Amino acid sequence: MPNARTVLGDIPVEQLGITLPHEHIILAPATAQHDDPRYDAKALADEVCKDLGQAVQMFGLKTVVDAGPADLGRDVEVYRQVAQRLGVNVIASTGFHRLTSGISLVWQIQELDAIEDYLVREITEGVGPNKVKCGVIKLASTDGAITGVEEKVFRAAARASKRTGCPIITHTDATGWAATNIGKRQLDLLLSEGADSERVMIGHVCATANLAYLLEIVKAGCYIALDQVGVHFTNSDETRAGLVAALCAAGYAPQVLLSLDHQGVWFPNRPPLAAAMTRHFGYLHQSFLPRLRHGGVRDADIEQMTVGNPRELLGF
Ligand SMILES: [Zn+2]
Repeated sequence: MPNARTVLGDIPVEQLGITLPHEHIILAPATAQHDDPRYDAKALADEVCKDLGQAVQMFGLKTVVDAGPADLGRDVEVYRQVAQRLGVNVIASTGFHRLTSGISLVWQIQELDAIEDYLVREITEGVGPNKVKCGVIKLASTDGAITGVEEKVFRAAARASKRTGCPIITHTDATGWAATNIGKRQLDLLLSEGADSERVMIGHVCATANLAYLLEIVKAGCYIALDQVGVHFTNSDETRAGLVAALCAAGYAPQVLLSLDHQGVWFPNRPPLAAAMTRHFGYLHQSFLPRLRHGGVRDADIEQMTVGNPRELLGF
């Protein structure tokens, strides 16, 4: 039986339960936890626990994948506090955000092998003084292009995934879908370097309303994530629900995952753009799943997308 790698250790995938596969416990500058005297891990964990705790109590949420690698302020000690206090599984990311918001200069100029070794080390040996192991590799590209540096990172990640079995989840920019199927290009790049399509989840695909793009990706055998439910400035939830219904009707429920890309807490503060989105960790279950049912999506497909597919993706 495969295991999922959580911040409190490996667990059998049967214990994952209802899973949100792309969220953010915390978003912060990469250096804040070390450099900013105002940074208070316990206070940040308190704030996350209020929000996440409600989703756990009301909807039985069991697992959250934090999609923030080190360059988005990953703090595995906050994740461990949250996991212990709420009894939820938290899975941390290694990897990098896109060039415009991550991948520091020092990493940009490293050789591919050094990046691959870094990713493998974070998965197999762990992060920080408590050696907390990462359970997914997070990747991202900018707009409609995959820059040269991002391409190097994608290739390194494909090799690291092949070596360890660790799943890859990606960020695509909303602007990337306007002119081209950026998700398919990300997938093709990973596959060209030997990644297994069943270890890959292409993310933020609900930033487009183009069903043909999504079909092109799932036909290649990987997972896709409609993982910005409630992000009103990239698409409406009505459009997202229509896409999910169409994918399920076409028999692709076994490759679709659902999430919010919600942020439990920001440091030093939640910016206006994020504050304008009145979401919470229970939003998918409170608002979107009823909409799917109303639109004719079967309960069995909803179970598959929120429990079955994460279990398949996250075990290795
Ligand atoms: Zn995200």
